Amino acid sequence: EKWVYSFAEGNANMKPLLGGKGANLAEMTRVGLPVPQGFTITTEACRAFFKSGKRMMQELKPQLLHALERLEAAKGQKFGDGSNPLLVSVRSGSVTSMPGMMDTILNLGLNDNTVAGLAKLTRNERFAYDCYRRLIQMFGNVVFGIEAIHFEQLLLRLKHSLGVKQDQEVAAEGWRQLIDDYKLCVKRHAGRDFPQDAHEQLELAVEAVFKSWNNQRAQIYRKINRIPDSQGTAVNVQSMVFGNMGDDCGTGVVFTRNPSTGENALFGEYLVNAQGEDVVAGVRTPQPIDRLKSDMPDIYDQLARVCKQLEHHYKDMQDIEFTVERGKLYVLQTRNGKRTAQAALKIAVDLVAEGVTDKYEALQKIEVSHLDQLLHRGLDESKVTEVLAVGLPASPGAAIGVAVFDADTAAEWKKAGKRVILVRPETTPEDIHGVLAAEGVLTSRGGMTSHAAVVARGMGKPCVCGCESIRIDPQNKHMLADGITIAEGDWITLDGVTGRVIRGAIPLQEAKVTDELVRMLQWADEVRTLRVYANADNPEDARTARAFGAEGIGLCRTEHMFFAPSRLAVMQKMIMADSPEERKKALDQLLPMQQADFEGIFEAMDGLPVTIRLLDPPLHEFLPQLDELQHKLQQADSDAERQQWKHMIRKVQSLHEFNPMLGHRGCRLGIVYPEIYDMQIEAIFKAAVACMDRGIAVLPEIMIPLVGDASELKMLRELVDQVADQVLGADHRRDCKYKVGTMIEVPRAALTADRIAAHADFFSFGTNDLTQMTFGYSRDDAEGKFLSHYLDKKLLPHNPFQVLDAEGVGQLIELAVQKGRSLKPALKTGICGEHGGDKDSIAFCHQTGLDYVSCSPFRIPTARIAAAQAAI
Ligand code: PEP
Ligand code: MG
Repeated sequence: EKWVYSFAEGNANMKPLLGGKGANLAEMTRVGLPVPQGFTITTEACRAFFKSGKRMMQELKPQLLHALERLEAAKGQKFGDGSNPLLVSVRSGSVTSMPGMMDTILNLGLNDNTVAGLAKLTRNERFAYDCYRRLIQMFGNVVFGIEAIHFEQLLLRLKHSLGVKQDQEVAAEGWRQLIDDYKLCVKRHAGRDFPQDAHEQLELAVEAVFKSWNNQRAQIYRKINRIPDSQGTAVNVQSMVFGNMGDDCGTGVVFTRNPSTGENALFGEYLVNAQGEDVVAGVRTPQPIDRLKSDMPDIYDQLARVCKQLEHHYKDMQDIEFTVERGKLYVLQTRNGKRTAQAALKIAVDLVAEGVTDKYEALQKIEVSHLDQLLHRGLDESKVTEVLAVGLPASPGAAIGVAVFDADTAAEWKKAGKRVILVRPETTPEDIHGVLAAEGVLTSRGGMTSHAAVVARGMGKPCVCGCESIRIDPQNKHMLADGITIAEGDWITLDGVTGRVIRGAIPLQEAKVTDELVRMLQWADEVRTLRVYANADNPEDARTARAFGAEGIGLCRTEHMFFAPSRLAVMQKMIMADSPEERKKALDQLLPMQQADFEGIFEAMDGLPVTIRLLDPPLHEFLPQLDELQHKLQQADSDAERQQWKHMIRKVQSLHEFNPMLGHRGCRLGIVYPEIYDMQIEAIFKAAVACMDRGIAVLPEIMIPLVGDASELKMLRELVDQVADQVLGADHRRDCKYKVGTMIEVPRAALTADRIAAHADFFSFGTNDLTQMTFGYSRDDAEGKFLSHYLDKKLLPHNPFQVLDAEGVGQLIELAVQKGRSLKPALKTGICGEHGGDKDSIAFCHQTGLDYVSCSPFRIPTARIAAAQAAI
């Protein structure tokens, strides 16, 4: 089996085998860009490595050696040779980019012998020994798992003893001394010497990178980004070029367009006389890329050309790592750049306008989960008072929370329901769980391409970084800004658009839709076939939904209308009623309230369908808790009052059920208490008449919940038709083309969908209940009690209440659609569970041939794009 490919053998299409980085390096080599030579060990090899119990496969060794020999021949250098040593980097490279999550080792091949050779060859002793000590440090950390802090302390001690502050001030002799210290450190913590044999170094490094696929941060990242664990990482072995050989050298990162705003201008940072990790790790704050124009004008021009070429080649904004070695430019890697939602849209729309891509490609590239970010909030400027500092605006949006100074606390406090801002001098991949928990991230060191910036942007969280005027003290859990101390737990606000750090909790304002989003949504609407409806329960939400492009309402949960305090009392009276007459009196009071709501909703959705679901939840949900009532009873000071509470207690006790979600709810309520549904239907049609008389086009679709047998729907449909006849009269009946349908949310309904379809004009899949009942997981308890364990142990790929379980629940949906349409080919079908706003679930709905998805108003733009992506 071929496990090793030289860069010259691969191309961009080999991503699954070579990983993103490897495929791109091969592609760049193929089109003649200045890429340092090397080879890639495949993801298949990584999978084989794990299969053979994390042991290096015997068959891989000769392939590795052969590739190395070819590299030696091409470079005219020899690995481990004292006079002309070849040095290589070993980097991970998964199929889907996972920035900073796995491991990298630079300068492999250095040892006590070759370091002298490198010094002689480059006539730069200081440089050679600096490289060597970096190797021991990285190798010790990655291969032997020695914590970085041990090395950092030795470096600090050295600088202290030399009386210097900056690494650049340390001379060759100092590095030599440090190398001895580092070797001792390795021996002490790893129980063995740092390997002097270059080939042994390489093998150990490759193994370590394979293993880093399963380190904790990589696993967390995969979980968040839904990357399969089975993929494995490729390993890239590349000959080293040096950005730290002197002042005609440097290294940097450049984005072909601004990843924050999308502006068409080079954006990035570089450091003169430095090695790659210095820029990314945010240890030294780098120069903006524009400065390169004056520092190295030729290199700048060349770099700008490379940027254009790569952007055209990949038809997307690129994130490029480059190194200048003695005045020669090398491209170390390129990948599609991470970007904010705002930038993503601008870049996509611009690239179409420039003729580089078309609308289909543009739509496909939109990361729908990030669109939420765009619909996120900014600051209410009139309330901004105390600006503590201004840092780099690394990821837009505004965030408020209490300051915390380490990732563990961030995660804990978030669990306890607090909103937190993670404040760190800089972040590393180890902090990822803290970033995940935080509303926003603030750092004092590192640039726009630092770890914190990249990760926050990727997650769509506001971030301010490189805020150097703030002194952050994580040990003592406080920071000092503008003479003010902010301690753990103090409120701060971040503005990721301007980089401001503000004291206190500043009120936030909702976001607005940009021109680019409007354009992208237009394209999405041209492409998609799935309609997008909204779940909305009141006129206000209906208006928002329509503004976001809803083409109807897929679910109006009428019970939500009863929870307003003034209505709840009437609702309770209705439930408490001891006779049908008494109940009727309460219902008469509720009717005009419902009618007013329906009128508002019909008006907002003029000309579009409005699906109204009749009462669904168990009635006890409208009554107070038993212990609350008992307390009230004790406090009562009159007999009359006591009687009243006792009465209510008896009622609550009589409504008690062991499994209320499987109990007296949904259509079962309508069957036992037809007068409730009767009132709701009457309110709907009275509202329809009132609206029609005002010239509003109404399309009510009345939906019966929790049907499990055709007979239930048959009976309730007759009720709807009967009330409609009474309320509408002949004239309105002609103009009011109402529909009656049902939710499919009980498995039996799906299984008998052909019989149910006889009485239904539409099916709406209530995938919340359908998931609950298909898995047998209580939707209110599962997530807190056991589902997280299932996800941690990977017994399930996703939370099935978030991402539709296509394998199981999906089968029921497919079956129901097929059976329903076998009887009624034109049967309208949709989904109105939470899954209606999830992109993978939307793709499933498209494939299954549903007519629409329905989701909450703020998710509508996302759903429109996801529906278009599913159609491409
Ligand atoms: C459902 O069950 O999917 C649904 C939309 O109804 P509810 O969440 O109100 O039970
Ligand atoms: Mg339901």
